[in-house]
Amino acid sequence: MALFASRFGGSTVRGLAARCFSCTSGTFSSASEPARQQFEEILGKNLEDIEAAGTWKTERVITSRQANSVHVSGVSKPVLNFCANNYLGLSSHQDVIGAAQRALDTHGAGLSSVRFICGTQDIHMDLERKIAEFHSREAAILYASCFDANAGLFEVMLTPEDAVLSDELNHASIIDGIRLCKAQKQRYNHMDMEDLENKLAAVKSSSRMRLIVTDGVFSMDGDVAPLVKIMELAKKYEALVFIDECHATGFLGKTGRGTEEYLGIRSEVDIINSTLGKALGGAAGGYTCGPASLCTLLRQKSRPYLFSNSLPPPVVASASKVFDLLMHDSSLSERVSSNTELFRRRMTEAGFKIMGDNHPICPVWLGDARLASEFSDEMLKRGIYVIGFSFPVVPKGKARIRVQLSAVHSTEDVNRCVDAFIEIGKEKNVI
Ligand code: PLP
Repeated sequence: MALFASRFGGSTVRGLAARCFSCTSGTFSSASEPARQQFEEILGKNLEDIEAAGTWKTERVITSRQANSVHVSGVSKPVLNFCANNYLGLSSHQDVIGAAQRALDTHGAGLSSVRFICGTQDIHMDLERKIAEFHSREAAILYASCFDANAGLFEVMLTPEDAVLSDELNHASIIDGIRLCKAQKQRYNHMDMEDLENKLAAVKSSSRMRLIVTDGVFSMDGDVAPLVKIMELAKKYEALVFIDECHATGFLGKTGRGTEEYLGIRSEVDIINSTLGKALGGAAGGYTCGPASLCTLLRQKSRPYLFSNSLPPPVVASASKVFDLLMHDSSLSERVSSNTELFRRRMTEAGFKIMGDNHPICPVWLGDARLASEFSDEMLKRGIYVIGFSFPVVPKGKARIRVQLSAVHSTEDVNRCVDAFIEIGKEKNVI
């Protein structure tokens, strides 16, 4: 406990948890004090284990809008923000905010209903049409989040007669979604096409349908799935392909259509899931996009769709405005890609190793966990907000600082960030 006491300035982990999660003004008392005490013991032990494992996550509190520069509670000056998924800078775009404000007046704050009872408005239908058009697919269906879209898809699509082949580093929501389905499950090594082929060959004769499942872009490493090869294998083994485009939609590829466009392949992926909570306005929401018959079936059977409230009208309207902006204008995706090019080029020239493909997720390789944590603290002192990632978020010995570029960064912002990296990198003998 001494370890925790020093870390939290004299507080214990239990005390800290209580401060974080409890209401101090209430007069709560449990019906059963022994049960309550036992519960507290169990919670306390869980929290101590997290702290002891070095995986405690703290949350910095932002007191301004999401933007290139944000105010962080406890930090006197605004800091340049390089760790949001605000790839196109649309979270605080005036037209997007205006659309949300107008929808509050015309369509209200919320629906108090799931979609199939009385929670579908004209603007939900419009947004689904726009999403399908943007991706050149037959149809789309909205969810409260992409986590829900991933959780609700596989159980509906796949039976024990089918097989699902999933990249080992796919997002947690895909892993959870696949757990819920009863198909044969195969996990292939990260982006290892030989392994995928072996596994496809192994299930070919024992499965009715095969579904290959991959993130389009993997968010920890900024690497892009080898979709060209995946499509080849899908053809050879008669498989369907699903991609999660959360870190691609709106900005990857010349017109922001995502991984397919970035890799120069036609729209051949069968099913796309993506989020409205990152590049596309950043509020909330997710969707599945693909065959109309699939979307229709999901409306009938997908549990997170059927049993969770409709997306609030202001959120729908802001996302809808984003699609209007992006449908015919790719200047923002050009801007984020030129910022990415500048950051990656200058950092590489300075001697840093930047992981991943040419994506605005730019993990700066450091290796050592303590170094990554101290480095990001030093960056904050210089007014740059970046986050160090270490085990267990990434494998042991592969700590890095993940920098995310946005269209809202100016050239000067990017240069300031690189200059700070170079200064600290030299001080710490990293370069
Ligand atoms: N899939 C991927 C690859 C993600 O990075 C995320 C968000 O972190 C999600 C799904 C979940 O998206 P949402 O925030 O809309 O639930």
